[in-house]
Amino acid sequence: MVNLNSSYRGRFAPSPTGPLHFGSLYTAIASFLQARSNKGQWLVRIDDLDPFRSKEEYSTLILKTLEQYSLTWDEDVFYQSSRQEAYRHALNDLNQRQLLYPCQCSRKDLAKRLIKNNIYDGYCLNNKPTADAATSLRIKVSSERITLKDLVQGTSQQNLAKQLGDFVIFRKDHVYAYHLAVVLDDHEQNISDILRGYDLLDSTFRQIYLQQQLQIATPSYAHIPVISGADGAKLSKQTFASDVSLAPVRETLINALAHLNLNPPKELIASTPTEILDWATNQWSLDKIQAKDSILLQMN
Ligand code: GLU
Repeated sequence: MVNLNSSYRGRFAPSPTGPLHFGSLYTAIASFLQARSNKGQWLVRIDDLDPFRSKEEYSTLILKTLEQYSLTWDEDVFYQSSRQEAYRHALNDLNQRQLLYPCQCSRKDLAKRLIKNNIYDGYCLNNKPTADAATSLRIKVSSERITLKDLVQGTSQQNLAKQLGDFVIFRKDHVYAYHLAVVLDDHEQNISDILRGYDLLDSTFRQIYLQQQLQIATPSYAHIPVISGADGAKLSKQTFASDVSLAPVRETLINALAHLNLNPPKELIASTPTEILDWATNQWSLDKIQAKDSILLQMN
């Protein structure tokens, strides 16, 4: 049992829209090692926010896979599907402060209007609240720069008004936007440190903005490079990256550690997954991770 004496609380938050693939396993391992090497807690949250895309069978499989790899989590697994009340409450709060407005723009309208860039043009800004079911809600953004001090990628800034425009916080199909859910859940779970893939870096500015509006603390962030295949595309469910629950555990674990620049020695293959992770915890340093958006998948 680890000595949980630090205030570090990290998490892995997979969406159950498919089995765990090598890219997500590598991210899970990195956040696990970062938490364990800080003598912190590591939590698992199932991001089953979207009822149209999430499947219970995948939640079960993902948790089983984490266990197979000895990635043991602290506390009960947290499910976004159980959090509707909290999301609704926050949405009401933002609405009462006149930060939201209904938007009827269809994907087609947006594609036509926002040709040059993808910045929402405020077309629906003066819409009055409506009972029309087929509207999304957008949050007004400000032109104050948002600063992200990323532990891997360094400091960067975004001006949401100039670079993004008002963004959707409640979808037309009545699903709360990922940004709102993630911010509220990380807060509820008292997460101090978020380590995740580079593909989510851009959305962090929106999340920091929401933290500011909801007056909740901003955790520390580290975005590690995503793993991409030979074609340059990120390994993902969409690219049919294979299910790591079917792969040989020790080999796959050691290969993931190699992608995290830990130089695992050959003999490690004779150790159990727990021993391999203990070895990796001692070797782990975020300084070994390069400030890059992606790295190539190495098969060995
Ligand atoms: N559920 C998100 C995903 O699988 C990750 C959320 C996060 O780490 O903030 O892409």
